[in-house]
Amino acid sequence: PLSIGIVGLPNVGKSTLFNALTRAQNAQAANYPFCTIEPNKAIVPVPDPRLDALTSLAKPQKTLPATVEFTDIAGLVKGASKGEGLGNKFLANIRETQAILHVVRCFVDDDVVHVHGKVDPLTDIEVIETELILADAQALENRMDRLRKQARAGKEHQAKLAVAEKLLAHLMEGLPASALEGRQEGAMAELYAELGPITAKPVIYCANVDEAGLEADSAAVEAVRAHAAKTGAPVVKVSARMEEEMAALDDAERAEFLESYGVESSGLDQVIRTGYGVLGLVSYFTVGPKEVRAWTIEQGWKAPKAASVIHTDFERGFIRAEVIAYQDYTAHRTEAACRAAGVLRQEGKEYVVKDGDVMHFLFNV
Ligand code: GDP
Repeated sequence: PLSIGIVGLPNVGKSTLFNALTRAQNAQAANYPFCTIEPNKAIVPVPDPRLDALTSLAKPQKTLPATVEFTDIAGLVKGASKGEGLGNKFLANIRETQAILHVVRCFVDDDVVHVHGKVDPLTDIEVIETELILADAQALENRMDRLRKQARAGKEHQAKLAVAEKLLAHLMEGLPASALEGRQEGAMAELYAELGPITAKPVIYCANVDEAGLEADSAAVEAVRAHAAKTGAPVVKVSARMEEEMAALDDAERAEFLESYGVESSGLDQVIRTGYGVLGLVSYFTVGPKEVRAWTIEQGWKAPKAASVIHTDFERGFIRAEVIAYQDYTAHRTEAACRAAGVLRQEGKEYVVKDGDVMHFLFNV
């Protein structure tokens, strides 16, 4: 499954946040008996008000939300790219993820030691991002050693070596791979596909604040926002400690708790939803008396491919799909009413499934 890696300096609140995610996972575990649970991974339900609305209309026996996976990646310290601390294991773990959740300490608490002595989000971010850039540079240099040998034998390797040199110079300026112009074309695109640079992955900044910080942005949070704005990365503000406490509450208690802090949805929900979004994932729904369920696909998938997430046979034997847009479904309230109103559409193989579509697939076995 697509996975988001949680990184950040020690003592910024990563484990606290991860614990909250794990509780959210365990609350749903009965619905996902097929998921093997690993200690550093949490497969958590994606909160979706549309799924709640469909559930109250169809009153199914059960409701299954979409999920997204988070991986707790411990051990990033200064020098990790040189193999210090848990450096190498860390880098191997992070390469397997598709996006990065970068937790930044914005809370002040003299009882919690800060690794560099004071709360300074920009320096913290720079330490982490520098390590990741160095790790990419090192992986690239290893690749270049091989390319140099191969380049003697063939032209296409020479072209790749030339773009590799360009990327290396870019990284050595302290810039992430995501910021290089022309990375989506030609030999450079091929090099990116082979290397999978860590700093080309989308990033979400998670500003971990104290309770006061939830209401108004502190200078520390503003600094994180300003940094993120340079690359257009999203920022989610959470109080990891509060989330951990809240994870133990039921829905009603949770709503009350949030209201007492003057916020509508928990930071954890925002982290999950933002993560789902940066991975380029969207949901379609199936609605029936037994089950209302959200299915995860990538943006742009056509109907047969979308059907394959339910069952691979659905793709092979795909005939057509009956589709109701989410707004139409909730306006008419049942499939029969949608059919009568003419808003249930017949769509073929080329149909690109939209976020929120209510789908029914017809297929040959
Ligand atoms: P990690 O090393 O990044 O995984 O950090 P931890 O999650 O272990 O947190 C380090 C310490 O900071 C723990 O004692 C947490 O209880 C504390 N901590 C985490 N989040 C917050 C927060 O939002 N406010 C305060 N005051 N302390 C926090």
